[in-house]
Amino acid sequence: MLRNDQLEQWDREAFFHPSTHLAQHARGESPTRIVTGGAGCHITDRDGNRLLDAFAGLYCVNVGYGRTEIAEAIAEQARELAYYHAYVGHGTEASITLATMILDRAPRGMSKVYFGLSGSDANETNVKLIWYYNNILGRPEKKKIISRWRGYHGSGLMTGSLTGLELFHRKFDLPLAQVIHTDAPFYYRRPDAVMSEEAFTAHLVAELEALIEREGADTIAAFIGEPVLGTGGIVPPPAGYWPAIREVLRRHDILLVADEVVTGFGRLGSMFGSDHYDIQPDLITIAKGLTSAYAPLSGSIVGDRMWKVLEQGTDENGPIGHGWTYSAHPIGAAAGVANLKLLDDLNLVANAGETGAYLNQQMQAALADHPHVGEIRGEGMLCAVELVEDRDGRRFFDPARKVGPSVAAAMAKRSVIARAMPQGDIIGYAPPFCLTRDEADTIVAATVEAINEVLG
Ligand code: PLP
Repeated sequence: MLRNDQLEQWDREAFFHPSTHLAQHARGESPTRIVTGGAGCHITDRDGNRLLDAFAGLYCVNVGYGRTEIAEAIAEQARELAYYHAYVGHGTEASITLATMILDRAPRGMSKVYFGLSGSDANETNVKLIWYYNNILGRPEKKKIISRWRGYHGSGLMTGSLTGLELFHRKFDLPLAQVIHTDAPFYYRRPDAVMSEEAFTAHLVAELEALIEREGADTIAAFIGEPVLGTGGIVPPPAGYWPAIREVLRRHDILLVADEVVTGFGRLGSMFGSDHYDIQPDLITIAKGLTSAYAPLSGSIVGDRMWKVLEQGTDENGPIGHGWTYSAHPIGAAAGVANLKLLDDLNLVANAGETGAYLNQQMQAALADHPHVGEIRGEGMLCAVELVEDRDGRRFFDPARKVGPSVAAAMAKRSVIARAMPQGDIIGYAPPFCLTRDEADTIVAATVEAINEVLG
């Protein structure tokens, strides 16, 4: 293909990148990469580099790059029927089939699937449904949503408020008043070093109880959380966390939303994190792994208890006033059907569990004793290495030193992409589920070399 030498200049002049230092990018001071292709766990860029993508894009290309089965399903759908809407009872073969396939795989007690386009809009839908639910039940005061610090639920107005990362609030006038935050279930950063995991869970539960007491249970509608904290640092929950949280919420009649945008469809080695941790949610948010990002598609899986009230609501008020033009877009739905088939046919969820465990073990073996590695943690095909100044004193680096981004950059020089998580010096890994043991070894070797290069 003819090389367009103006592309990098056009990029700086015309393209507004999300989550980017705009001024540095415009001045050409920050590294850029123009990605041109992908196959399996690797991507290629227009400078001819081939890199092992140990973060599967943004933990979303779960079946790996270059799957012709999904590409062909998309092309066939586009040729037959590129679009029809889903309003007032319309549907397409692909969207109806996909809804059924999702419910077949979902935890028990789930009733219907609403389709959107992104994780953010699916969580926006969830909040609207929660408010509608309490209005139908005659509880107009019961509206606040509890989220966790370090949770990530999107970057819209409401979903950016739910997100518990300061960068997503500062200068955006967020969070909105209806959102309140509770402590992150982040054992490594527990307040007291001698606290056991069980005691830390009890501490979090007590914090939640105190928050509910302060605000009043009759003002709180729902609690939202990721089964494993993702963007906030890739943190599996402490022992007994989800059943204990669920018990508190039930007692106060507070709905539970499991945001499974990252964990849904196999990333933990189980189809859903809700089953993995016995969460029993009322709503489940899905996106990323639903189509492995071959096309934009998200969803809200609505549980029986809410669904009954939504039906009652429309009997009383008429059609539900919520929908997007692109809800249940047939091209996304066709990608979803082909993607879920591929997960089954290639046994990829089991591989996420097995090779993910291998990646975590090898990372432990290589780095557990490193003086600047505070913790290595993970679950399924998720792993994180937390870098610290002093491991005995759990003393963190000054963020200004940018240790995490420097390590990720040193890994990229070695042709491996890991993600410097945005809060803390945490290197995150979430490779495609088709990762091999050899590729896992390559990721570990690049991590060791990069840490030694940056931290000596
Ligand atoms: N929820 C979780 C758990 C996520 O990790 C993300 C994105 O990373 C979102 C929601 C938002 O999804 P999107 O970026 O598609 O809006």
